[in-house]
Amino acid sequence: MKRTSQIPELREIIALERNRGRKIALIPTMGYLHQGHLTLVERAKQTGAFVVLSIFVNPLQFGPTEDYSSYPRDLERDVRLVEAAGVDALFHPTDHEMYPHPIVTYVEVGQLDTVLCGAKRPGHFRGVVTVVSKLFHIVQPDLSFFGQKDYQQYLIIQRMVSDLNLPIEVCSVPIVREEDGLAISSRNVFLTLEQRQEALILSKSLNEAEIHIRVGVKSAREIELNIRERISRESHGIIDYVEVRDAGDLSEVVNVESTVLIALAVRFGSTRLIDNKVVEVRTFV
Ligand code: AMP
Repeated sequence: MKRTSQIPELREIIALERNRGRKIALIPTMGYLHQGHLTLVERAKQTGAFVVLSIFVNPLQFGPTEDYSSYPRDLERDVRLVEAAGVDALFHPTDHEMYPHPIVTYVEVGQLDTVLCGAKRPGHFRGVVTVVSKLFHIVQPDLSFFGQKDYQQYLIIQRMVSDLNLPIEVCSVPIVREEDGLAISSRNVFLTLEQRQEALILSKSLNEAEIHIRVGVKSAREIELNIRERISRESHGIIDYVEVRDAGDLSEVVNVESTVLIALAVRFGSTRLIDNKVVEVRTFV
């Protein structure tokens, strides 16, 4: 596996492979890798492309009171994991390599940024999309892989690629969970044993919501309230949001009549967890 923190060196590595006729796949991450990330690697490798994985904790996407400085980092552990997983090139730039001077040019996200995590974390998606856009320009991948764990992020990036006519196929990978249902996240390491146990309520309440929809509950409000009540009753989690939205464009839903996203963000202590479920609903007329 090649590894570099330098943009020119990465470009050389990639140019060589492209000249050999290989397609290039990019997996952007913030490191502290886990099975969720490694599943993206598996999917990328299945395409036969030359797989580039980036590790960069992007300061631009963290708010002033968020966990940028405490975000977990362990580069040498990550190197071992990606090497074993068969990544072809690892790119782990420094802040200075990515932002040699204060950035003044951003990629702005429109309406999709005004709801869910976008509403709760102002500037977050602008930071994400700007850095992903920089990575796209550096790597010029044919394919890029994102997890549905960050469903809104995936939709926003897909939209950016379409709006800006980037010749990149954006592929998504379903949420990878622990055996007991907890969505795997780098931030799970911060949970106490008790919080880790209580956090199971997130996936449980999402599963229950799906069952409610399947047995005919249509009211999005009722579904949201049921989830809120269950989380409040069975945990100390502080709810940031619980929302049922259209899975295609995140627009508001009153009655569930087509495929919906049920998304939530809940704080356990200082750890903010997100989870979601896409429920496919077909209406027959
Ligand atoms: P992160 O390092 O948290 O920024 O995540 C990098 C990529 O991995 C993003 O596309 C995430 O959506 C994806 N990812 C993180 N956790 C999971 C998971 N549990 N299942 C699937 N994809 C994930």
